[in-house]
Amino acid sequence: MTTRNLFFAATIALALTAVGCQGPQTAVPGVAVDDRSVTVQQLAVRLGMRVDERADTFVVLRGGKNTILIFTHDNGRFFVNGKPIGPVGTVRKMGAAIYVPTALVSQIRASLRAPTPSPPGPKPPVTSRKGVIVIDPGHGGRDPGAIAIDGTYEKHITLAVSRKVAARLKRRGHRVTMTRQDDRYPELEARAALANRLKADLFVSIHADSAASPSARGFTLYIAPNASKRTQKAARAIERAMATTGRNNRGVRRNDYRVLVKTTGPAVLIELGYLSNAREAAQLQTDALQNRLAAAIATGIIDYLN
Ligand SMILES: [Zn+2]
Repeated sequence: MTTRNLFFAATIALALTAVGCQGPQTAVPGVAVDDRSVTVQQLAVRLGMRVDERADTFVVLRGGKNTILIFTHDNGRFFVNGKPIGPVGTVRKMGAAIYVPTALVSQIRASLRAPTPSPPGPKPPVTSRKGVIVIDPGHGGRDPGAIAIDGTYEKHITLAVSRKVAARLKRRGHRVTMTRQDDRYPELEARAALANRLKADLFVSIHADSAASPSARGFTLYIAPNASKRTQKAARAIERAMATTGRNNRGVRRNDYRVLVKTTGPAVLIELGYLSNAREAAQLQTDALQNRLAAAIATGIIDYLN
């Protein structure tokens, strides 16, 4: 062998070793374990979206005018712009990585609002509209609101959830004003007047319910009897998003609540659940359910703005 041939042989041997090294795929976080699953990050990239929020039980992907909510507990559930899709298989958690079925890519792409680039490519422009939102934590100060059967006051739950909704909207660049920041009671007219003065795109009053029947459960949305088309659209968007939490959905109803009637722009009142129901009262005091409800409400508001 000449020196030159020896060099070639060595190069080929090295190349073969390199191929051999790749061997079978191992489970590395962020890398697909097989061709039937991808990580949520890979799913986002393939759809031209980004992972916007990641919590214990859910992941939110956003891009363009689309929002995908993936619940990662109990085998998982998938929602595109508030509408459930599936069944497509299950969600698996391996360490820090969350794997979803590859079949989701084409299934979600078919449900997206506008075409998004399939390969990584350039980042899609973020076109979501920024809004002026007034969040109204129900009751406060001298007015405790409903009193749960364990003695908890509605006013504390409404403030906690309102703060979480406001934080999520602010993080997305929206202008958010709360009618109260602490345990005080602004008059109902003053709450509506604040929204009117700011020409709010949406006024959202947050409450928790109470009923004579201890078994009553679930969330309810209220709009004024003569609610505008915009208000109806907002209520439906929030209802769709809240339905993805799996809580009992009591739908959109009409009632002449003062804060709804006195607001000139779109206005929705949300009853999160029943404090007269022992189970719901306990759940509504947990950070976990408060976060899930707040995430859903914020998602619904953003969907309505777009
Ligand atoms: Zn209330």
